[in-house]
Amino acid sequence: MYEWKAVAMKKNRVWILGVAFALLFAISGCGQNAAPSSSSASSSAASASSSSSTASETVSADGVKLSSDSSDFVLLSEAVPDAILEIRYYSTYNFVGDRIDGYEEPLAMLTKESAAALKEVSDDLVAKGYRLKIYDAYRPQQAVTNFAEWAKDLNDTRMKQYFYPDLEKDVLFSQGYIDEHSGHSRGSTVDLTLFDMKTEKELDMGGTFDFFGELSHPDYTNITAEQYANRMILRDAMLAHGFKPLDTEWWHFTLVNEPYPDTYFTFPVNSDSVSSK
Ligand SMILES: [Zn+2]
Repeated sequence: MYEWKAVAMKKNRVWILGVAFALLFAISGCGQNAAPSSSSASSSAASASSSSSTASETVSADGVKLSSDSSDFVLLSEAVPDAILEIRYYSTYNFVGDRIDGYEEPLAMLTKESAAALKEVSDDLVAKGYRLKIYDAYRPQQAVTNFAEWAKDLNDTRMKQYFYPDLEKDVLFSQGYIDEHSGHSRGSTVDLTLFDMKTEKELDMGGTFDFFGELSHPDYTNITAEQYANRMILRDAMLAHGFKPLDTEWWHFTLVNEPYPDTYFTFPVNSDSVSSK
C-alpha cells in the first residue's frame, strides 16, 4: 500500500514536473520565436543611434560603408516647414536631363541633427524676409552611381549648354565635379538658395545651382557686389548654425558634426523611408 502510494505520488510528481518543464519550454520557445520582431521594434531607438552591425549595413566594392537604415532621417517638409522644395534630381532639369535613380518622390530628407540645425537657419532668415529653397539634401548612393555612369557616356551632352557650357565632358571626373561617392549620401549635406518673400523671387546669386565652373565658387569676384552679398547672407546664416561651406559651390553646406561621417546611405528618397516615425 504505502509503497504503491509512494510510487503513485512519485509518478504524480514526475508528471507535474514534466508538465511544468513542458510549459517552461513552450514559454521560452515563444520568447525566442518572438525575439527578432519584438526586439527590432522595442530597441529601434538604441539601434538607430548606435547603428550596430545589422543586416542593413554592407560594404561597397571600393570599401565604403553602405547602410539602408533610414531610422535617423526626417522629412524637411516636416522639420523645416518654411522651406521651399525644388528637388532637381527628381525633375529632369538637372545636368543629366533625366530623373535620377533613387528619387522616387520630390522630397528632401536629412538626418535629424542636420534638419534641426537647418530649422534654426530657416528661423533666422525668415525673420529677415527670406525662405530657404532646397535643391537637394540626402542623396542615395544609387543616384551618385547614376551620375558616374552618365559622366562616362561622353556622347550624352544634352544639358551641356545649361550646366557645363565651358567644359568638355571628359574632365568632369578629373576636375572633381563627379565622383563615385558624395557627402550628400551621408545625410547631413544640403544644396540650397534663398527666396526673397518681398519680391517673390530667388535671390540673385550671380550663378545658378549645379553650374560646373569657377562662377560657382562662393568667393568668385567677377560678380556684382549685390550678388556677392546675397551669397554671404546664405553662407553667414548656415555657418552660424553649425554648417561648413564648400569652396567650389556656393549652394552646398555640410553639418560640421555630422552624425554619420563614414556611412553612405542607400534607401530611396520617398515618404515610405521615413513613414514609420
Ligand atoms: Zn551639394
